[in-house]
Amino acid sequence: MAFRSRIYKTAAELQLMVQPGVITAAALDAVRAAIVPGVTTLELDAIAERVIRDAGAEPNFQLVPGYRHTICASVNEEVVHGIPGPRVIQPGDIVSIDCGAQLDGWNGDSAFSVVVPDPARPALVAERERLVDVTEQSLWRGIAALATVKRLNAVGAVIEQYIESNPRTDGGEWGIIEDYTGHGIGRSMHEDPPVFNYRVREKGPEVKVGLAVAIEPMLTAGTIDTVTLADDWTVVTEDGTMAAHWEHSVAVHAGGIWVLTATDGGASGLAPLGVTPVPIAATV
Ligand code: MG
Ligand code: MG
Repeated sequence: MAFRSRIYKTAAELQLMVQPGVITAAALDAVRAAIVPGVTTLELDAIAERVIRDAGAEPNFQLVPGYRHTICASVNEEVVHGIPGPRVIQPGDIVSIDCGAQLDGWNGDSAFSVVVPDPARPALVAERERLVDVTEQSLWRGIAALATVKRLNAVGAVIEQYIESNPRTDGGEWGIIEDYTGHGIGRSMHEDPPVFNYRVREKGPEVKVGLAVAIEPMLTAGTIDTVTLADDWTVVTEDGTMAAHWEHSVAVHAGGIWVLTATDGGASGLAPLGVTPVPIAATV
């Protein structure tokens, strides 16, 4: 029997999403700390799985049909869905890690990108760090927008606007990937509605109490064309351009917004934007 997902959750349901979000954040923090030259993406996967299972939760990526890992690890020109394996992380690599945890049937989903230090190539590192930074900052703008916009697709317009306003240092335009979007999240990791990272004609559903969405901009240093490799998972830029990916799961509740996959609810990321996240109130 199909499980009909609801876009708007009750306060009690949103509260149940807090802990899987926190566990997702802990797993990503542990992976981030382990990203050094010489580590393999499979070793990073094991770290994330241990954190999630030690917390009594389950890696929800393993619940996706055909996927056996806890994280996706996408390196350099890989945009998303890179499969952990023997690949050895090198200085200067852009490493994008996507991960999620399920606890008591509720899900978290989050991702970050980071550039591995490479003292021998400061210009390359600076260029890649800017790609990563603009991607992350576009995410925080999109999250902040949720606190005020009336319709969901305004979030994508805010993300695109920020990215357009912060071009590459060589003056060129970034590429915002359109082949993949963010999504609602709840009992399933992927639910309606889609969350676009770019302007679309439709206004989308109302942003109101109960909405829980994963916002996840994917940016490249130019192209928006992607191809999926023969492993049926790994998505790469068609021309080898570098890519970055950031994601958070966010709840809209009666008190405001709360970033479920940030241990501080998003306070540090949102502070420069004048938005203060509010914890989801206890329900009786
Ligand atoms: Mg994700
Ligand atoms: Mg997602």
